[in-house]
Amino acid sequence: MQIIRSKSEMPRIPKLGFVPTMGALHAGHISLVEKAKQDCDQICVSIFVNPLQFGPNEDFSKYPRTIDADLELLEKAGVDIVYLPEVTDIYPETRNSSSSVATRISTETELEKIHANPELANKLCGLNRPGHFDGVCTVVKRLFDIVQPQRAYFGEKDYQQLMIIREMVNRLKIPVEIISCPILREADGLAMSSRNRYLSAEERRIAVQLYQELLKVKSEILHSPTTAQKRDISHVSAIASEGEAIHQSIARLEKAGFKVDYLETHWNRIFIAAKLGNTRLIDNLAL
Ligand code: AMP
Repeated sequence: MQIIRSKSEMPRIPKLGFVPTMGALHAGHISLVEKAKQDCDQICVSIFVNPLQFGPNEDFSKYPRTIDADLELLEKAGVDIVYLPEVTDIYPETRNSSSSVATRISTETELEKIHANPELANKLCGLNRPGHFDGVCTVVKRLFDIVQPQRAYFGEKDYQQLMIIREMVNRLKIPVEIISCPILREADGLAMSSRNRYLSAEERRIAVQLYQELLKVKSEILHSPTTAQKRDISHVSAIASEGEAIHQSIARLEKAGFKVDYLETHWNRIFIAAKLGNTRLIDNLAL
């Protein structure tokens, strides 16, 4: 396994599969690697905690960094190249600044951002995290320019991100095929996430309710008489029983200790984001 810290060292490989990550790797990330190995000759994984996609009050400096364990997992998974850039390798504009990484990146005016499509970004996580998806688009575009993969793999765990990246790639005519991968879950159903390690034992026990509520709301929506009559779940958001099911679900979650950011249907899926203590969890399910 080759470890690369500077873009100048990146080899050119014709059938290269790419899995961009922020590290603190778990089996969900490795499932993307496994999928890529089925389709591609060689696999590159990047680990880069992108300061540009964190808001000023978010967890950039506290985001888990477990590089030794990450490298061990990637080696075991048979990854060929690991790209571990410094901030200045991705954002050379910030090289001469003396302020901290997070400050200089958020106040950097020279930095040319790629904007996320506002129709896709101005909902769900985009409302509570202004600028987040511009930060994601900017880093993914720069990583694609450096790695030049044939295919790139993204998890449905971050479904809105997946939609936004697909749109960006089409709009900018970037020659990378975007492959989506299903959500990998813990045995009890909790979606795997780097942020799950922030949860206390008690919070971890409660956290599974997020997925259970998604299943419950899905079942109520699909079995409501209105839905059965319409037999067209793409218009499901129009029905009143959906609102009632969602309302009750939010009440149950808040009672269990969650602070729900949203529980909504879009793109024929149901999406949830909620805070448990200081940890923000997201999940989604196809209807
Ligand atoms: P992150 O390191 O959180 O930026 O995630 C890197 C990639 O792994 C993204 O495409 C995520 O959607 C994907 N991913 C994270 N968790 C999971 C999971 N539980 N199942 C599938 N993909 C995941």
